[in-house]
Amino acid sequence: MKAVKWFGPHDMRTVDVEKPVPKPHEALIRIESTGVCGSDLHYYSDGRIGQATITEPLILGHEYAGLVEAVGAEADPSLVGKRVAVEPGIPCLHCEWCHTGHYNVCPDMVFPGGPPHDGALCEYIAVHARFCFPVPDSMSAAEAAMLEPLAVAVHTVELAGLKPGESAAILGLGPIGLLTAQVAKLAGVSLLFGTDLEQYRVAAGAKHGVDKAFNASSHDTVETILSETNGRGVDVVFDCARSSVTPSLACRAVRPAGRVILTGISGTEEDPLPVSVARRKELTLQWCRRFCFDYPRSLALLASGRVDVASLVTHSYALEQAGEAFDLVLNFRDNVLKASIDQ
Ligand SMILES: [Zn+2]
Ligand SMILES: [Zn+2]
Repeated sequence: MKAVKWFGPHDMRTVDVEKPVPKPHEALIRIESTGVCGSDLHYYSDGRIGQATITEPLILGHEYAGLVEAVGAEADPSLVGKRVAVEPGIPCLHCEWCHTGHYNVCPDMVFPGGPPHDGALCEYIAVHARFCFPVPDSMSAAEAAMLEPLAVAVHTVELAGLKPGESAAILGLGPIGLLTAQVAKLAGVSLLFGTDLEQYRVAAGAKHGVDKAFNASSHDTVETILSETNGRGVDVVFDCARSSVTPSLACRAVRPAGRVILTGISGTEEDPLPVSVARRKELTLQWCRRFCFDYPRSLALLASGRVDVASLVTHSYALEQAGEAFDLVLNFRDNVLKASIDQ
C-alpha cells in the first residue's frame, strides 16, 4: 500500500509499505481522511516534540477516519462496512494509570504518528476495534477525523470545571482554540476572549463563539484582558497556542484563584512560568494530555450539530501531496485552519 513517510525535516516521501493484517482484536481500516495537527508540525520540521524523537523514517498522522474493511476473530463483526472515527492512542489497559481512569497518560501508549509508531498518512491501518467509533452516515470522513481535535477541546473544557456564567480567554485560535471556543460557549461561558497572532484566525475566532477576539501582535494580551474586566482577569485561561510565551500570559491574565488549562504544545522541554505570580494568586495550573473517555461525548456533540467542524477544514490534499499540506499549515498560508489529506 501507499504511505507517506517522514525522512527528515521537511522531507516527506511517498513509499510502498506492507498492508497491515488485523490481529484478532483489531479492525482493518481503509483510511479516508487524515487531518494535519499542530503536533505533527513539530515532527515535520524538527523531528521531535520534547524528548519524543524520530530516529528512523516514520509515517505521521493521528487524526483519522475511514471505512472498516475487515475485523479480526475477536473484534465486533458489526463494524465491517462502517465509517469510523478512531481514537488514536491505544493504551496498554493493564497499568496503574489505565486502571485508575487516566489511560491517556499510560506510559505504554501506542500512539500513531508518534515515534516509534507509524501513523495514518497511508491507505490502511489496523487498530484495536474498541477504539473505533462508528459515525452517522451523514458525517463526512473529514468531519469524522475532526473528532480527534474536538475530543481535545472537550477534555480541555472539562478539565477547567467551567461553571455557567464564568468568563474565559483562549490564547491561540487554531483548530484546537476554535473548537475550545465552541465547547466553552456550550458549557455556559458568558464572556470569551480570544487571541492569535494571525489576523485571519482572530476573525475566525469571532465566527466560532469568541466575544472579544483580538490580535496579540498589536494588543497586549494581559493588559487588554485586565482592562476589559476592570482589572479582575478572567476565571479561566485556556492556552491553546504553539508557543513558549503563552503559559506566562495565561497566569497573568487569569483572576486570583483562577484556573489555567495548558493544552497547546510549545515543542520545547521547558517553558518559563511566572511562579511568583502563580503563587501569589494561588492559581491552579492544569495540563491537558489529549483526551480521556471523551470520544463518545464528542461524537454526540458533533452528531447533534451543536459544534461546527466542517468550516474549520479549509484545505484538502491527496495523500501524495501531504508535504505540501504540512508546509501550508506550518506557514499559515492561504488562511488555513485545518488541512486534511483525503483519499
Ligand atoms: Zn491532533
Ligand atoms: Zn497503561
